[in-house]
Amino acid sequence: MAARCYIGLGSNLAQPGAQLDRAVATLRSADQIELVALSSYYCSAAIGPGEQPDYQNAVAAIATTLAPLQLLDALQAIENRQGRERSVRWGARTLDLDLLFYDQLQLRSERLQLPHPRICERLFVLQPLAEIAPQLRFADGSSVAEQLAKLLQQGNLKLLSTVS
Ligand code: AMP
Repeated sequence: MAARCYIGLGSNLAQPGAQLDRAVATLRSADQIELVALSSYYCSAAIGPGEQPDYQNAVAAIATTLAPLQLLDALQAIENRQGRERSVRWGARTLDLDLLFYDQLQLRSERLQLPHPRICERLFVLQPLAEIAPQLRFADGSSVAEQLAKLLQQGNLKLLSTVS
């Protein structure tokens, strides 16, 4: 039985859209992974010190027969492959892949926390996730769409624009 999983993708280095395209292409062709849905690409301002280019973010839904840690290994291998090639030239990581949900599994281990603990405070995760899985539920019974509405209201935030 395949697990339904959601993966958050982000990049803020040169040609972030191409970085996301490449990561998606790798996911599409990976063994034991089937790409089920892909959100639009969204543009978000970088959080953190110093001048940083804007991010592009997306969320992918996959079906996989990989176990949770095998999937994390696969995601980190993709990050390393793309990050390493660019790291000398651009001096920072080019691709961030977060495992957001693995079915409804709840896990708190050193290497892997599920669902990803910061989903509900990050508009750049919640908005693309809401585009492809608005009814997905958290352990408290709330849906992704409800958490998105709450974050927008609490943070007085505006929806992110999609990348054309
Ligand atoms: P980051 O640098 O923010 O991508 O964080 C990567 C670290 O977070 C790795 O050491 C992972 O083992 C750990 N981690 C814990 N939970 C997750 C998750 N759900 N998805 C991705 N990385 C995770």
